[in-house]
Amino acid sequence: MTDRKAELAANLAHVEERIASSCAAAGRKREEVTLIVVTKTYPASDVRILHELGVRHVAENRDQDAAPKATACADLSLTWHFVGQLQTNKVRSVTSYADVVQSVDRAKLVTALSAAAVRGERELGCLIQVALDAESGERGERGGVAPDGVEELAAGIGAAPGLRLDGLMTVAPLTGEYAGRQRAAFDRLMEISSSLRAGHPAANMVSAGMSGDLEDAVTAGATHVRVGTAVLGVRPRLG
Ligand SMILES: *Cc1c(COP(=O)(O)O)cnc(C)c1O
Repeated sequence: MTDRKAELAANLAHVEERIASSCAAAGRKREEVTLIVVTKTYPASDVRILHELGVRHVAENRDQDAAPKATACADLSLTWHFVGQLQTNKVRSVTSYADVVQSVDRAKLVTALSAAAVRGERELGCLIQVALDAESGERGERGGVAPDGVEELAAGIGAAPGLRLDGLMTVAPLTGEYAGRQRAAFDRLMEISSSLRAGHPAANMVSAGMSGDLEDAVTAGATHVRVGTAVLGVRPRLG
């Protein structure tokens, strides 16, 4: 084993242990939670190693980095998640490799994603990104729709050709009433998910939790955790 492979294997084992013990403590089955490794800023060679180590879900947040990486790894059976703020002019590129876009937060983006999915003859999974600290009618600083905008966006995705409404995503807020209260934030997301599922029963994905707060997310009921730093190491630059 190369040094890098050994390092990633050890980090993955540690993250796996954290997920497994949170599941056990919450009375959940380990299979209820999917690990998505966020590979942003790290090279395609790391994605390849992760695949050898059994990882099947990866996430990226910038199209410029993600597009060449996905091309370099096109021979691997991986599910690619896009988790960054998405400009409509990047939608065609993202739709060419992403299986799931987790950062859907406005009607204009739904229209663009739908057109690109239809044109590419693909079905694209969509998660609505919820900004728990955004005021009614606003969007979050790091993307995301305010909680009271979820239903309307869900209806739009549900009616859009080429798109499949899979559920919700959030990043724990740094400001507002949930700042520093990850568990409360994720509980709130689960409530929003319950109301969403009442009208869209198949939209049962809940993507929450990162390196620092994955336990809170698993305890609250997240189905997907997005872990970067704890697997790959501290990123060399902001991303
Ligand atoms: C970078 C990123 C993550 C992973 O964060 P870590 O703290 O490195 O685990 C998760 N979700 C999103 C949306 C991200 O941009």
